[in-house]
Amino acid sequence: MHYYSTNGKAPLATLEKAVVKGLAEDKGLYMPERINPLPKEFFDEMSQMTFQEVAFRVAQSFFGEDIPADDLKRIVYDTLAFDCPIVKVEENIYSLELFHGPTLAFKDVGARFMARLLQYFSSPTGEAGRGVVNVLVATSGDTGSAVANGFLGVEGIHVYVLYPKGKVSPIQECQFTTLGQNITAIEVDGVFDDCQALVKNAFMDAELNQHMRLTSANSINVARFLPQSFYYFWAVAQFMKMRCSENEKMRKSLVCCVPSGNFGNICSALFGKRMGLPISRFIAANNRNDVFYEYLQTGEYRPRPSVQTLANAMDVGDPSNFARIYDLYGKSHEAITKDISGATYTDEQIAETIRQCLKETGYQLDPHGACGYRALKEQLRPGEVGFFLETAHPAKFKDTVEAITGQPVAIPDRLAAFMRGQKQSIPMTKDFKDFKSYLLSQ
Ligand SMILES: *Cc1c(COP(=O)(O)O)cnc(C)c1O
Repeated sequence: MHYYSTNGKAPLATLEKAVVKGLAEDKGLYMPERINPLPKEFFDEMSQMTFQEVAFRVAQSFFGEDIPADDLKRIVYDTLAFDCPIVKVEENIYSLELFHGPTLAFKDVGARFMARLLQYFSSPTGEAGRGVVNVLVATSGDTGSAVANGFLGVEGIHVYVLYPKGKVSPIQECQFTTLGQNITAIEVDGVFDDCQALVKNAFMDAELNQHMRLTSANSINVARFLPQSFYYFWAVAQFMKMRCSENEKMRKSLVCCVPSGNFGNICSALFGKRMGLPISRFIAANNRNDVFYEYLQTGEYRPRPSVQTLANAMDVGDPSNFARIYDLYGKSHEAITKDISGATYTDEQIAETIRQCLKETGYQLDPHGACGYRALKEQLRPGEVGFFLETAHPAKFKDTVEAITGQPVAIPDRLAAFMRGQKQSIPMTKDFKDFKSYLLSQ
């Protein structure tokens, strides 16, 4: 299968090139040239399958032409070493919990898949086999830890994590600054968008690319974002397994709400829908960084600098994957608004939602999931059943959440282990010249 650029000016790429390069030559994002619908039999059988079996089937549809079945199966099964359960929160509202992986956020899925795929391509004959591959990743909080942990100790790969100084929580920070080995954390004096700009500039810099092999592990990478579709299929399979009398109705009226920042997560759900996934419509929940919400209302996409919020992993002012969604829907605002509605919440509303949900249902939301829960609750119509994505464990935002609810949040063991490590990071300005000379010295 080939991959084209959303900007339409770069040559078609193989899967390997799309994964190793990350971004196309014309600065566009790679898109698979076909989205293969899955057969009806698959959907009929899905309720009998495990998460890994469902995911492998979906993976074959994207990657089956390029990776032998045995290798792909190993990559998928290794990636999904944890569950993504559907949990009932209240009548008609369910949470798809995506925080059961090693770094307690949904990005574990894409990051683990990409690390394994890159390792697969690093075989002596592969394109990536010619020397160390340097993975550059900008993070607003959770990407860095997921990518760093996904790649930790993988031979032939070095990871540079760029993060905005003072703008990620201490718990998030320790998940990528304490690892050592093949992971380097770079603390940028700026905001997330500055980190993202440094990474994008590095990929465009000819001299730097001659000096070292660079690749991206942001959600712009097809190896990160396509595997995220796995858990949408698994969510539907779990609804089917419930076998309640409402099953048929549920399949016809299932609504999915995604707390969104860079829009990689919801984008993979939209690909799933193209493959036949029975989800009737989507809600993209934003915090005050609501450029997409505004686009839905006005038809105009006006990126602007991000502002800091309680749901910091969604503090994105110019979501990269907008280009993919726009392309997927043939640049039609009408088509996009037919499938997706939006929502936007202030910090006060996020806090109020966390408090209210805990009090009324006993379910502990994190600030991102809170946007999703609230948007779903506000927009669910009679006869519909919905699920929102709980994109991170509330313990990742322990101080914030405890201050809001007044109740303690227990820290899972795998998170506590990171907090005992020693922070190591390289301070950096947001000036590309400085970043470039640092990389050239490596
Ligand atoms: C990254 C992240 C998001 C936003 O996901 P996108 O794919 O960038 O839209 C939401 N919640 C959490 C906890 C995240 O880490």
